[in-house]
Formats: sequence, structure tokens, C-alpha cells
Amino acid sequence: MRANALISQSSLQHNLSVVQKKSTKAKIVAIIKANGYGHQLDLITPLIKHCDMLGVSTLTEAVQLRKKTHNPILLLSGVYSSAELKLAITLKCHIVIHNTEQIKLINCSQQMVNIWIKIDTGMHRLGLSTEQYYQSLEKLQNNPQVNIICIMSHFSCADEVDNPINNTQLNAFNAITDNTIARSMANSAAILSQKNALFDFVRPGIMLYGVSPFGKVDTKLKPVMKFSAPIISIKTIQAGESVGYGATWTSSKKTKIAIIAVGYGDGYPRGAKNGTPVLIKNVLCPLVGRVSMDFICVDISTIKVKIGEMVVLWGSAQLRVETIAEYSNTIAYTLLTGISNRVNFSKTI
Ligand SMILES: *Cc1c(COP(=O)(O)O)cnc(C)c1O
Repeated sequence: MRANALISQSSLQHNLSVVQKKSTKAKIVAIIKANGYGHQLDLITPLIKHCDMLGVSTLTEAVQLRKKTHNPILLLSGVYSSAELKLAITLKCHIVIHNTEQIKLINCSQQMVNIWIKIDTGMHRLGLSTEQYYQSLEKLQNNPQVNIICIMSHFSCADEVDNPINNTQLNAFNAITDNTIARSMANSAAILSQKNALFDFVRPGIMLYGVSPFGKVDTKLKPVMKFSAPIISIKTIQAGESVGYGATWTSSKKTKIAIIAVGYGDGYPRGAKNGTPVLIKNVLCPLVGRVSMDFICVDISTIKVKIGEMVVLWGSAQLRVETIAEYSNTIAYTLLTGISNRVNFSKTI
């Protein structure tokens, strides 16, 4: 009896349709880096089948993905050697170029290569500066081996809808680019909140998995991953007795405790506070004591339940991963990508 994750195909399809409705004119690059945000490449077929392109971070991820699809793959981190460049071309990747070293590599390419040029509009992580972009564009355009597909940039604060940095970045992008080359700027948060940032390609990630980029639950999106685990022991403790490592929680009255077979070794966050909800027989019950590697403990005084009952840790209508992220002082992205390979995955309609 162990933790498992069920991946819903119809919820993926539904969330994809939300993206389509928000950005009717743009093509969709489904971002499926980090093993489909932890959902497993094998189980996210609707995304792999029904999107215009698929985005991954690393070349290793592109190698894995190429076994499953003929769709174009956008390689977000780009390549770092001529060997990597060759492999990326063999895999039919569109390669993101974000620094001048990569421009040198590309300009020496012996084979036709599709590139996306990433410019830095204010995030100051990846991307060419405006000067670097202007200095290199003409040479790339005149290189017969280079096919420039798109100019892209990335928001630093799109999850804060009213942050003025969003407009600053969008204005910078519009000032540097025009509609002679396709453009791409929007991640999930921008797709949901910045109508003027949709351009020609949108790059949804987290929203495809049914999770709001804004931290608060968005009921238009349907959770794709349902993370569950069984109750493997039940006991009653007396007032004044504590539970778990460090004895960080002590009961004030006689309390019935369920021990559930999930812990940080499975990807349940160790930072989850006392009171973090766990859904048992449709009742939200509070976590008590520290999360350990293999187990969590939950106060089930208010319900009748037996050993073997499966409980929901996140991913149902009543208990979404955004809530667990909030109780654990983190973001849903880390929880989804943090599920370990001890967890058994399967798919459902
Ligand atoms: C990860 C990533 C995205 C997707 O971001 P979400 O917030 O998950 O929608 C889009 N663009 C780039 C460049 C990324 O690295």
C-alpha cells in the first residue's frame, strides 16, 4: 500500500481548451519540461498529440520526448557545443538562442537549423541584450543555414497581474521587435491576464496541468494530477501526548490519529504545517506533527474510517495543490515536479 498519482486525460484536454479560448490566434507550445511538470511524459498524451509544438528545457528531455512524437520540439535552454547542436538538429528541435556563444555555434552550423532568438526585456536571466540582438540579427538572417522562426522573451512578474514591470517588459519587446518575424512572450500567467502579450506563439505550462499560476485556485482549470495514499494505521492518543519527530504537535484532548503512507520521500512537502488539510472520505482533516520521509499523521477525530482507505493529498475539486503549496510555504510548481519515482503513476480518462 503506497502513494499513487492518477493523471486525468480529460482534464488535460479541458485545460488545453482553456488556453485555446484565451489565445485563439496564437499557436500553442505546450511546455512539458521536467517530465511534464512531474506528470510523466508517457501519461500526458493529449498535450503531445494536440499542440502545435512542445517545449522542454534540456537536450536530454528532447531525446526522451522525440521517442514519443514527430511534433516540433522547442529546446528552451539551447545548445552548448557543436555536438549538442548536431544532436538537436537530428532531433528536429527548434533551438532557443539566448547568448552570444550560442550565436557563434549557430553561425557555424553545417546543417539547416531552426532557431528562436530569446531577448532579455527585463528578467535578466536568459536572453540577448538589445544591442547583442541588433548586432547579430543581420548575420543570422543572411546565413542560409539559419531559419529564424520566432523572437521570444519571458516575463519576470506575470503572476503579479498589476506589477508595472509587466508593461515595461511588454513595451521593450514591442520596441525591439515587429511583426516581420513571429513573436512569443506569454507563459500561463500572461495568457490568463495580459491580452496584449499573446502574439504568435503562447507557451503555457502550469495551467495545462490545471493549476493557477497566481497561487489562488482557478476553478476554470481542472486538476490533472490526483495524488493519493492509504491509511496504514489508526490510533487514539490522550490529551498531552505528542505526535511525530520533534514532538511539534501535542493534543489538547483525546484524539484519533490516522497514519498515512506518504512522506517527503514521495514528494509530500516536509514544510507542510500543522493543520494542512488532507481529504478523507470527503472531509478535510488536519495534518498533525512533522511530515517524515514515509508517513504523515492526521487528526481524524471527526470521521469514521478504516485502515486501507485511500485519502487525497491534492488534486480533487475540494483539495487543490495550490492550497497545499500555501500551507507549505512554496508554489504548486515545486510540489508537482517534486513527486518522487517511488510513487506509482497511472492514467485515467
Ligand atoms: C517554463 C516556461 C514557460 C511556462 O511557464 P508557466 O508559468 O508554467 O506557464 C514558458 N516559457 C518559458 C521560457 C519557460 O521556461
